[in-house]
Amino acid sequence: MGNAAEKKLPRIEINARLCKGCSICVDFCPTNVLEMRGTTAAVKDLAACTRCQLCDLRCPDFAIQVFD
Ligand code: SF4
Ligand code: SF4
Repeated sequence: MGNAAEKKLPRIEINARLCKGCSICVDFCPTNVLEMRGTTAAVKDLAACTRCQLCDLRCPDFAIQVFD
């Protein structure tokens, strides 16, 4: 019986034009939220995101942003 606000998923935005496909975000994500699809990072398991912001902080190209 959790309340709806606690279960709200984060929003992850990946800018495909800025993403150079280095896969740093995929490698640093502690809960395997992200994956590479071709040369662009993509969200594979949004529910696993802990909002730690590591992907956002580590991306050299400011291509990925995590919003609460
Ligand atoms: S770290 Fe940034 S540039 Fe590298 S794959 Fe992830 S989103 Fe793309
Ligand atoms: S905020 Fe943390 S848990 Fe969520 S996708 Fe980025 S690195 Fe993974």
